[in-house]
Amino acid sequence: MSQTLLLLPGDGIGPEVIEQTVRVAEKVAPDLNLEYGAVGGASYDEYGTPLTEDTLNRAKASSAVLMGAVGGPKWDGVERQHRPEAGLLGLRKGLDTYANLRPALCFSALADASALKRELVEGLDILIVRELVGGVYFGQPKGIEALPDGTRRGFDNAEYSTPEIHRITRVAFDIAKGRGNFGRKWGGVCSVEKSNVMDSGLLWKQEVQALYDAELKDMGVPLHHMLADACAMQLVREPKGFDVILADNLFGDILSDEASMLTGSIGMLPSASLSDAGKPGLYEPVHGSAPDIAGQGKANPSAAILSFEMALRWSLNRSDAADEITRAVGQALEKGARTGDIGGSLSTSQMGDAILAEL
Ligand code: NAD
Repeated sequence: MSQTLLLLPGDGIGPEVIEQTVRVAEKVAPDLNLEYGAVGGASYDEYGTPLTEDTLNRAKASSAVLMGAVGGPKWDGVERQHRPEAGLLGLRKGLDTYANLRPALCFSALADASALKRELVEGLDILIVRELVGGVYFGQPKGIEALPDGTRRGFDNAEYSTPEIHRITRVAFDIAKGRGNFGRKWGGVCSVEKSNVMDSGLLWKQEVQALYDAELKDMGVPLHHMLADACAMQLVREPKGFDVILADNLFGDILSDEASMLTGSIGMLPSASLSDAGKPGLYEPVHGSAPDIAGQGKANPSAAILSFEMALRWSLNRSDAADEITRAVGQALEKGARTGDIGGSLSTSQMGDAILAEL
């Protein structure tokens, strides 16, 4: 059956980086059916909403969705439910993408762009698997209330249930098994929480371990547990000791940002958000619409191209083509191809040319 990739270029530099990604897609997967849709401000301008039902239905019916970026000052005055970002949240919710994958991959040509010493990050290849739709960001009750003494109280409820923990744990183990990096200090899956001070963290640790003992042990993937604060520390001390880090929504948010900065520029960072096997994943660069450089041909298309690489790997079952892209991006960087964000002067399309030349 033919596979469909729904492209949602969005706003700002989104269309610019997606344009280069399409060139790569046409080269490595010419049989892939590419469709286009509108999201974010672009959709609001055309349809009065950042995500139409038609676009969401087409996303659900596709094999994978690749988004550029949404947002920009043009829509700052728009009411909250119609802001571009609401389109992205609607997509995540509609596709029920509960597993967020953020790789931290350090191309050796860019090792000097890291805030850490070259020897700590050169060859770094780790992945953070973050629970995306539960935990303290969504727990009820939450709010801000006025107290009788004139001060106020803000509160959020951190909660997780067994099924929520089990389904994200399964994703982390499936991925760790495919990667096979079991020899590292915390190789396989390293599950992080704050079981020492949070009951939801204690449950997280217990349920990960219980599922492992009952069902996952035979996969041969090692399991480690680590406190989230210790993990934050080890990520800058010995990042190459990790392979797959499994975290809840809150800690995953923070640790994935920390890990991504080990690798240099935001223009290089892809992400994936996955649902259950067989359902479409949502792929997008970590960066936003970069209004400061939009329309100037300065954006680095690598993050979008590497997001497509993740789609090939995790939704389209084409890991050979995915490997080919990773290799081509690395080669182009080795040969000195650089956009402004990584210390060069190539335009968006010239960076695309440089990557295409290696495919
Ligand atoms: P941003 O990521 O758009 O930009 C931050 C800085 O990084 C800017 O200086 C920008 O020029 C640079 N940059 C980003 N991507 C780049 C690339 N590919 N190549 C070269 N340089 C790049 O973040 P921001 O400025 O905080 O947000 C701008 C808009 O994007 C806001 O409306 C925000 O809400 C939105 N946003 C959207 C997403 C998303 O679509 N997932 C994520 C973050 C921010």
